[in-house]
Parts: sequence; structure tokens; C-alpha cells
Amino acid sequence: MPTKVNMVIEKGPFIVITGHDLHDLKQLLEQTSGQGINIYTHGEMLPAHGYPELKKYPQLKGHFGTAWQNQQKEFNGIPAPILYTTNCLMPPRPSYADRIFTTAVVSYPGLKDIAEVKGQKDFTPVINQARELGGWKEDHTLSGLNGGSELMTGFAHNTVLGVADQVIEGVKSGAIKHFFLVGGCDGARARRNYYTELVKQTPPDSLVLTLGCGKYRFNDLQLGHIGSFPRLMDMGQCNDAYSAIQVALALSKAFNCGVNELPLSIVLSWYEQKAVCVLLSLLALDIKNIYLGPTLPAFLSPNVLKVLVEKYHLKPISTPEADLNTLLG
Ligand code: SF4
Repeated sequence: MPTKVNMVIEKGPFIVITGHDLHDLKQLLEQTSGQGINIYTHGEMLPAHGYPELKKYPQLKGHFGTAWQNQQKEFNGIPAPILYTTNCLMPPRPSYADRIFTTAVVSYPGLKDIAEVKGQKDFTPVINQARELGGWKEDHTLSGLNGGSELMTGFAHNTVLGVADQVIEGVKSGAIKHFFLVGGCDGARARRNYYTELVKQTPPDSLVLTLGCGKYRFNDLQLGHIGSFPRLMDMGQCNDAYSAIQVALALSKAFNCGVNELPLSIVLSWYEQKAVCVLLSLLALDIKNIYLGPTLPAFLSPNVLKVLVEKYHLKPISTPEADLNTLLG
């Protein structure tokens, strides 16, 4: 469900939960019900706010911070524990290492781990530490990388396809002229600002779909609406690339053409293995003209790259201006 998510951390005890595992979040919400402890998502946990089954817990308040590579800065000195489910983990600084708990596949030397016993996890140590630390004395308003404090999420394929007739009507009437899918991983290199600039410069008659950590470059921008649609739609985690493919397939069916003939541009930011799997899935579906950056994966030897460029028209990103000219031209 489309949901607005704010970045206000209310005064009092709280827990930050990061990663992909919605089931871990559900268990944490059950165990903190009625305890006066608020829960804030971080990183890839943001789309959790779009699930009614999780949103029904009033203590699931909002979102904390940006993408994984900013953990050391954002977690430094916060008066709350952080629970890592399956996010990328930066080596923790001593200033907050005693407040980190890991679970499932995440672990790191010296950090406390919560094990699963008979399908259940007991988050009591996390809850107790939240109570001891007590949180901030006043409300804290955080912001995204562009200064915005309000995010939107919840545009998975069933939501977008639930209003498919309006999307199709928008294309037919000319109100929507182009779709962009800008997503993937985030990382620390300055060149990743390409994605922020590209999204900022997309024309007002285009919709921007996004997913994965790459969205933290621009998901606090207010791009306005086309009719009832926000121009920027967060489809979820990197795991939700499936959603983007379903939307592309549904559009191609509605317009009786192939995905490659749609007014759809796919611009990906890659960083590590999972993003490469997503790229390979897209190629296996014969999706062409994908833009990829900010650097190319190391496995793309000159010969492999030549094949991908010739057969799939894979393109390394250049500048937002030049790429937009080509994509819209
Ligand atoms: S795989 Fe990429 S998108 Fe997913 S959590 Fe890691 S950096 Fe983020």
C-alpha cells in the first residue's frame, strides 16, 4: 500500500531495525507491543511501511537514515540499539558497536547475535537496551540526502497494476510520456550523484519507478504528481526487482508490444552480487538497452562486455544530460 513515511524520531526509547527480513520485523513488533518503545526502519527495511500487516502496529513510527554506506556516520552516538537482519554491514565503530545486535545470516566479530530457537527469536536483550538507553529527550527530525524528511513507499507491482487502467489511460492521453526505472545498489563513490541528477532532470510528464538502496540518492525529493500518481514510486527492496519486471510485462501486454518497445528506460546502479543477479535476470528476459553504472562489474571482461553491448545493447552511464537526451530522443 502506498504510504508516507516520515523521518521524525520521537522522544523516548526506540529501536532501529535494518535489512530485508520482514519476518524479523514482525516478531520485533509483536514483542514491543504496548511497551512504549518505538521502532524505526533503516536501509532496505523502509518498504515495510507499505505492508498493512506490519503497519498495523502503532509503534512502527518512521524511518531512520539513508543507505548502508552511511551507517558509521548515522549510527554514531544514537541512544538506541540497532538490529541488523540482512543488510550490508559496515564495520561498526566503537562508539556504537555495543548497541548492535545481529540475527540470521548477519554476524560480525564481537557483536551480539540473536539466534532463532524453534522458529522464534527472543528480542528481549534489544528491548531491554532500548529501555536503558532511553532514546532522545526531544523529537529529532532527520532528513534524506537532499534535505527532505518525508518519503513514500509501497508501490509494489500489485499496487501499480491495481491502477493499470489509469496508467494506460495516462499514456494514451499523453499525460505520461515515459517511464524510468532507476534502482539498484548505493555506494560511497561521488559518481553515484549521477542518479540524483538524472532523476531531478527527468521531464515532468515521466514516472520514475525505483527500488533497492540506490533510491536513497533521491527518495526525499518532491517530484510532484501526474494526476493521482506521485512521479516517484518506490517499489521496494532490491528483492522486489520482480515487481518491476511484472509491471514492465503488464505494460507490454497492455500496449501489445515487447518490453523493449515500451517508452521505458532502465538505469541501474550496481555494487555487489545481488544486483548482478538482478542484471542477469533482466538479460535472461531479453531486456535490452539497460544503462549500468557507475562502474562496470569486474566480471565484465572486454570480451564479455562486447557480447553484452552487441547482443543486449548494454550501455555504461555517461552524464545525466547526455543519457537523458539519448533515452528521450
Ligand atoms: S544488495 Fe544492493 S540494494 Fe540490496 S541491500 Fe545490498 S546494497 Fe542495497
